[in-house]
Amino acid sequence: MATFKDFRNNVKPNWCPGCGDFSVQAAIQRAAASAGLTPENLAVVSGIGCSGRISGYIKSYGFHGIHGRCLPIAQGVKMANRELTVIASGGDGDGFAIGLGHTMHAIRRNINITYIVMDNQIYGLTKGQTSPRSEMGFKTKSTPGGSIESSLNIMEMALSAGGTFIAQSFSTDLKELTALIEQGIAHEGFSLINVFSPCVTFNKVNTYDWFKENLTKLSSIEDYDPSDRGMAMNTLMKHNGLVTGLIYQNSGQPAYEDLVEGYREEGLARQSLKLEKEKFEKL
Ligand code: SF4
Ligand code: MG
Repeated sequence: MATFKDFRNNVKPNWCPGCGDFSVQAAIQRAAASAGLTPENLAVVSGIGCSGRISGYIKSYGFHGIHGRCLPIAQGVKMANRELTVIASGGDGDGFAIGLGHTMHAIRRNINITYIVMDNQIYGLTKGQTSPRSEMGFKTKSTPGGSIESSLNIMEMALSAGGTFIAQSFSTDLKELTALIEQGIAHEGFSLINVFSPCVTFNKVNTYDWFKENLTKLSSIEDYDPSDRGMAMNTLMKHNGLVTGLIYQNSGQPAYEDLVEGYREEGLARQSLKLEKEKFEKL
């Protein structure tokens, strides 16, 4: 059985010391090992940005795509070889600005991919401009007087788009993040995991301390039920999206690739077997 060390290669990340992306890389490697994967059955596809370099830092198949397009590439990889576990990854600028259309359609398509976004609420690679996740009033070189646009509530959007696995975490919480990635890999459908991953060099507002003060763990909310879509939406609205944990999961919807003609019978049989097994386990 592979360990997280088997997913290490000899490329040294050139992220700034203290960047949140280091922990995300470690969490992916740990989750891949605990999910029972080996490097040859994992593909990591990334977009452009500091975080997009991650596909080069993990020992697996890798594809460093173009800006905002990691999801079309990842979906192509999955459709070409459904046996591969496919992880797509990138930053908030990549996935929630230029790539937002792909993100929303991949969510509603429910293709079996795990998408991990390293959300630092800024463009880091291009040296600190306001991103669609930056709060109103946020000052950068591109908005010296403060941003006059509101930030995208991406978790609410994912829920509205029909997401079947929506989670959020904080890069310092390696235990929670690893467990969520492992759950996302096991989920038979599209899983979106948004990770607050601070940019220590350019974002002096949303720092590690800021997140520690402002994030609420869903596990601390009594009776929180991630299968209740209404509760998920109300909780996100109440906390302005600043929650961590499994926000919502619907295991009952078949994955896109299981509905494609030629694969449909096998896919639906697998899905109904899985649902029967879950029912049995609940007895
Ligand atoms: Fe990380 Fe920011 Fe440095 Fe990029 S610029 S590597 S996001 S700390
Ligand atoms: Mg960013």
